[in-house]
Amino acid sequence: MFESILIANRGEIACRVIKTARAMGIRTVAVYSEADATARHVRLADEAHLIGPAAARDSYLVVEKIIAAAKASGAQAIHPGYGFLSENAAFADACSRACIVFIGPPADAIRAMGLKDAAKALMEKAGVPVVPGYHGPDQSDKTLSDAAKKIGFPVLIKAVAGGGGKGMRRVDKAQDFAAALEGARREAASAFGNDAVLIEKYVTKPRHVEIQVFADGHGNAVYLFERDCSLQRRHQKVIEEAPAPDMPEEVRRAMGEAAVKAALAIGYQGAGTVEFIVDGSRGLRPDGFYFMEMNTRLQVEHPVTEKITGQDLVEWQLRVAAGEPLPLTQNQLRIHGHAVEARLYAEDPARGFLPATGRLLRLKLPADDGHVRVDAGVEEGDQVSVHYDPMIAKVIAWDTTREAALRRLKGALQGSVVAGLATNLPFLARVMGHAAFRAGDVDTGFIDRHLSDLVPPDGKADDRTLALAALDHLLALDESYRVAAAATSDRWSPWASANGWRMNGETSLVLRFDDNGEIRDVGVAFTPSGYVLGLATGEIAARAARRADGALVADLAGDKISAEVACSGNDIYVTVGGVTRKLKFYDPGMAADLSSAVGGGIVSPMPGKVMRVMAKAGDKVKRGAPLLILEAMKMEHTLIAPADGVVKKLSAVEGEQVSEGAVLAVVEAE
Ligand code: ADP
Ligand code: ADP
Ligand code: MG
Repeated sequence: MFESILIANRGEIACRVIKTARAMGIRTVAVYSEADATARHVRLADEAHLIGPAAARDSYLVVEKIIAAAKASGAQAIHPGYGFLSENAAFADACSRACIVFIGPPADAIRAMGLKDAAKALMEKAGVPVVPGYHGPDQSDKTLSDAAKKIGFPVLIKAVAGGGGKGMRRVDKAQDFAAALEGARREAASAFGNDAVLIEKYVTKPRHVEIQVFADGHGNAVYLFERDCSLQRRHQKVIEEAPAPDMPEEVRRAMGEAAVKAALAIGYQGAGTVEFIVDGSRGLRPDGFYFMEMNTRLQVEHPVTEKITGQDLVEWQLRVAAGEPLPLTQNQLRIHGHAVEARLYAEDPARGFLPATGRLLRLKLPADDGHVRVDAGVEEGDQVSVHYDPMIAKVIAWDTTREAALRRLKGALQGSVVAGLATNLPFLARVMGHAAFRAGDVDTGFIDRHLSDLVPPDGKADDRTLALAALDHLLALDESYRVAAAATSDRWSPWASANGWRMNGETSLVLRFDDNGEIRDVGVAFTPSGYVLGLATGEIAARAARRADGALVADLAGDKISAEVACSGNDIYVTVGGVTRKLKFYDPGMAADLSSAVGGGIVSPMPGKVMRVMAKAGDKVKRGAPLLILEAMKMEHTLIAPADGVVKKLSAVEGEQVSEGAVLAVVEAE
C-alpha cells in the first residue's frame, strides 16, 4: 500500500479522500489555489502545496504543477477526485511518466470513453444497447438536421466531449433545430474546446439509472448495483438514491452485467460508473435500458452505494491502484436497506436554480451518525466563490426502507441552517416530503413537473419571521446594555435590568424592516416580563433568550420556537425548520438607490464573461428578446428584454469580464 498520496482536487471530495486515506494510515498531500489557502481540505491534509491563482485553469487544471507538487512531497500516487483532471488521459499519462500511480483507470480506458460518440460506437460493438441516434463524424448542419428528422423529434443534441449537462439541448420541433445546434456548439466549444455533437432520440419519461462498477488488475470485475439519479435540473443531478425504486432483480442483473461487459471491453481498472437511460413509461425492463456514457472516475453520488453495500469505495480505489485484487467477489456483495443523497447547492431555485456566491454566514449541518452522513468541503465563514462548483455539501441518509430513509433525510435537512446566500435547502426538504417522490414516481422531468409545489412563490415574510428578527435585535440590544452596565459597575443603573423600561425612558419603539423591497414595521412595547410585539395580525406577548450555541429560543404568545438568526451589515437571515428568509434593516438611502438602478436596467446576476451580444443601442425589442449571453459559473445565461421597448444602452462587449450587479444594458419600455 502507498505511504503517501496527493489529492489533486478541492472541496468535499478532497476531504472525503483524506478521510479514508487517514483511516488506512496513509499520509495525505493537498494542493490548493490562492483562493483556497484556508480551505477545509488544506487544513485536513498532512501537507499542502500552493499551485497557483484561483482560476482552475491556472491551478487545479495545470498538470505540471500537480506533478511537481507530488514529486516535492514524495507522494507515490495521485487521487484525482471528480471533475478537474479526473478524466484527463494526458494527466494519467503524465503521472506514469513521472513514476507516480494515477488512482484511476489506464489512460487508454479514459480515452475510449472520453468522447461520447466513440464510446457509443464501441459499446454497440461490444453488444451493449445504446440510445438510437447519429454519432458519426460528419458535422455539417445538413447531416445533423437530417439525422434529427430521421430519428424523429424530440431529439437531444449532445456535445461529444460533454459533461455536467453542458453543451446539451433538447429539440422538440424541426424549426428549433438550427438555433439549438448553434447554442450546443457554442457551449461545447467554450467548455470543452470541441464543438462536435451527436444527436440522440430523446427518451420519453427518462429515468437515469447508473451502475457502479469496479475492476482490478487481475481480471476481476464486479458491479455494486445501481443508483437512480433521475431527479435533475438542467440535466444535472440533485438527488440520488440506491437502490432504484421498483427495480426488479432480473433488470438489476441485466444492467449490472451489461455494465461489467462495458468495463471489460475497455480493459478497465478501478471505480467507474456506466450511465444508462431508461424509458420509464414502460417500467424497468431487461430490454429497456440504453448506454449513455461511462464516467471513468469516482462519482459525486458514490456515498449512497457505500451506504447500501457497507463498502468504502475510496478504500477499494486505493487497494486496486496499489495492485491488490478487489476486496469482494460479485456474490459476496449484497444490498442492505436504502440510501438517498441530497446535494446542497448555493443556488436560487426561485431564479431558475441560478448559482449563487457569497459567504456562509451560518452553516449548521447534522452530525454524522449511523443513519445520516454529511460530506462537506466548507465550514461556517467560508466563501462560495465564482471560481468553483457551487456545491456546499452532500447530505446522505440511510435506513432499512426507502420510506424511512426519505423521512430521515427530510428531518436532517429541516434541522440544518445555511444563511448568507441563497441555497436549495428548503427545496430539497420539499422534494423529500413530496407525495409523488415518496411514491417513487421519478423521472428526469420530475422537478419541472412539480416546480410549483417545490418552489412556492416567495410571498411576504410571515409575522412569525418578523417577530423572530425583531426579538433577535432586541436581545442584541439587551446584551449591549448589559455590557454598558457592567462597565459603569452600577448595579442600580437602569441599564442593568434586562426587561426593558429604558431607551431614555421610552417604553416602546418601532423596528422597520425591508422585506424584499416592502416596508414592514414591528411595534415593540417593553413590559416587566418581556415585550408586546405589534404585528400585522395583531399584538402578541413575546419573550426570547439565546441558547449557548447561539440559537434564539422564543416564546410567541405561548408558542415555543427555536430559530437561527444571522446578521451581516443590514442583512438579517432568519432560519426556522430549514427555511431561511432574508430581511434587511430598513435603510431609506438604499431603497432609493435600488429603485433607480432597476428601471429597465439589465443587470449581471453574477460575475461572468459576456459570450455574445445580440442587440445594439437603438434596436426595438420585444419583451423576452435575447440581448446577450453571459457565461458564469460554467453555465450560459441568456439576459432578455424585460419589456417591449427600445435598447437605450448596451455597453457590454463580447469576451468582456463583468462583475455582479453591473448594468449591461438598458431597455426603455414603450
Ligand atoms: P453528461 O456527460 O453531461 O452527464 P449525459 O449523456 O450523461 O451527459 O446526460 C446527462 C443527462 O441528460 C442524463 O442524466 C439524462 O437526464 C439526460 N439525457 C441524456 N440523454 C438522454 C436521452 N437520450 N433522452 C432523454 N434524456 C437524456
Ligand atoms: P442582496 O440585496 O444582498 O444582493 P437580494 O435581496 O437581492 O440580496 O436577494 C435576492 C433574492 O434572494 C431575494 O428574493 C432574497 O429573498 C433571496 N435570498 C437571498 N439570500 C437568501 C437566503 N439566504 N435565504 C433565502 N433567500 C435568500
Ligand atoms: Mg452523465
